[in-house]
Amino acid sequence: MASDEFDIIRRYFQRSELAFAAPGVALGIGDDCALLRVGPGQELVISMDLLQEGVHFLPDSDPYLLGQRVLLVNLSDLAAMGAQPVCFTLALSLPNADPQWLERFSAGLGVVASAHTCPLVGGDTTACHPDHRVLTICIQVHGNVPQGAALLRNGAQEGDMIYVTGTLGDAAAGLMLLQGRARDERATPAQRQALIDAFHLPESRVRAALRLRQLASAAIDISDGLASDLGHIARASGLGAVVKVDALPLSEAFRALIPPQDRLALALGGGDDYELCFTVPSDHTEMLEQQMREAGTPVACIGHIAAGRDVRWQRDGETLDLNVRGYNHFPASGTAASGSQERR
Ligand code: ADP
Ligand code: MG
Repeated sequence: MASDEFDIIRRYFQRSELAFAAPGVALGIGDDCALLRVGPGQELVISMDLLQEGVHFLPDSDPYLLGQRVLLVNLSDLAAMGAQPVCFTLALSLPNADPQWLERFSAGLGVVASAHTCPLVGGDTTACHPDHRVLTICIQVHGNVPQGAALLRNGAQEGDMIYVTGTLGDAAAGLMLLQGRARDERATPAQRQALIDAFHLPESRVRAALRLRQLASAAIDISDGLASDLGHIARASGLGAVVKVDALPLSEAFRALIPPQDRLALALGGGDDYELCFTVPSDHTEMLEQQMREAGTPVACIGHIAAGRDVRWQRDGETLDLNVRGYNHFPASGTAASGSQERR
């Protein structure tokens, strides 16, 4: 590496907007381990994501946006559990120690870390193998939740209503634009930018998620597409789901860019939404909608949990024969990864 490893850590990762003091952190970067305070009656909530250039993000991504995105994507997993972020760790395997890249990447991380009071408390920094010069970023987020209050995938009951936050398919449409796979004259420049922004900077649903703890029976974040992720809730809960496709929330920008016949595949299987999908007992829906209004989080009720096994997609009471699959790194048939995207 051009620059000393400890110099990199000090200069870029111990910066004040990234490695700041926080209530749950007794000791951050600098010793062999970090020390966290887990309060009485709290459970520690942990999730890890490994992101590789060319698989999870585009080569030559703007490091400032990438730094924000990788942390937002991890925080989305905490939100899906109804957890309060505490801190995170970061492992980097770098093709080179480019000071400009490190400065922009760590600044991007710092923006999101500060906004969520979720400081960086440790990690590992290595040079990657000279024959495999691929940037790899691994983040582990830590959160807490009162004992027994975490939102799991398996809690949905028959008759519960199914909700999603925000709109679906925007990030997948944004990625199509970035990869030159969309007829971009269909949308205005502002609409195209909104879709690209949705890919780079998913909305954080952390604050909304804290309000769901008392109200939702099950939750998941939509990373692989609603079809796949709602399927996880249904399977884990041993039930089926009925979704009214005309109730799916689609943005104006998405509708402008994507022709009607392509919308469902992208909104259900495109992935990278990082919105929440959750279920709510039908006698809690009024309270839920009020809570989400107060949080400023748009939600849409898209269907209900039903007996059976599968997710059924309906329009005007008729079941549609949709074969939408979310993204899968190791698809059962064939050797290539499946899904509606080609990048991961
Ligand atoms: P060790 O040799 O004990 O694994 P390191 O030399 O790898 O320790 O790291 C020294 C300190 O810097 C540790 O506290 C470690 O957690 C922290 N650290 C290393 N890399 C990073 C990083 N990318 N981000 C944040 N902290 C880091
Ligand atoms: Mg180390």
